[in-house]
Amino acid sequence: MSPFERLPARHSRVGGIPVTRLLPVRQRRLIGAWCFLDHAGPSHFAAGEPGLRVGPHPHIGLQTFTWMIRGRVLHRDSLGHEQIIQPGQVNLMTAGRGIAHSEESVAGERELHAAQLWIALPYADRHTPPRFDHYPRLPMWSQRGVCFTLLAGEYAGHRAPTLLFSPLVGLDLHARQPTTLTLALRPEFEYGLLVLEGGMELDGEWTGPNELVYVRTAQDRLELSLEESARVLLLGGEPLEERIYIWWNLVGHSEAEIAEALADWQAGSPRFGKVKGYDGEAMAAPPLPAGQK
Ligand code: MN
Repeated sequence: MSPFERLPARHSRVGGIPVTRLLPVRQRRLIGAWCFLDHAGPSHFAAGEPGLRVGPHPHIGLQTFTWMIRGRVLHRDSLGHEQIIQPGQVNLMTAGRGIAHSEESVAGERELHAAQLWIALPYADRHTPPRFDHYPRLPMWSQRGVCFTLLAGEYAGHRAPTLLFSPLVGLDLHARQPTTLTLALRPEFEYGLLVLEGGMELDGEWTGPNELVYVRTAQDRLELSLEESARVLLLGGEPLEERIYIWWNLVGHSEAEIAEALADWQAGSPRFGKVKGYDGEAMAAPPLPAGQK
């Protein structure tokens, strides 16, 4: 069996911005504990256009993970954090038992290109207290004309400061010139590769933006060719052997957990707190499908 599987993307819109959703898809729900992957943009806004606007909404059971490539987005949350994320930085919000936040393009900002990910919290950590972490500086190094930025976990002797609850890696590769390289993999990890810009050749096939290539466990390396200016996101992790439920912005280990969180949000429960300063309405939760109440 080939270690590679090419996964189809879905197109959607979030906060007024076109996004390509790579996870979850029917064929695959998780890569390690990475359980959601939206590729936002690249988008350009006309003067006076608002850009991204995502009003206050709740999360449980996950970490939201933003990797900013271009543009600036302001995060506000119900713990009182206000943080602008800039290119080359990661924002990580650990929802645990519950938090709410809003995200919007900084006033006057004309572009957005980002990867928005979620990491499922393992069962034992699902009720961890909510927190927010901003990582303005991440390990960076160059090799064979490729600039590597380590977003999460450990790679090639480097260690990212990012708070994790399960063994994961996140690595951004940005080619300054056409190059071929070998990436070391951990056999106990499964991986995904997503082209964010440009193109790569993997396993004899050319791959462009918005096709996620899944790599099964038991591989110890990967041969990759990148075209000039290509940018690729490598995600990996130990397969999470837990049943995860995702509905709207909520991740849980049972349908009952999700239903309770939805009811708490709709009731304005202090569990989620209030996001202050966002000029707009909080989001209303969509109803649960029949049979999931
Ligand atoms: Mn969110």
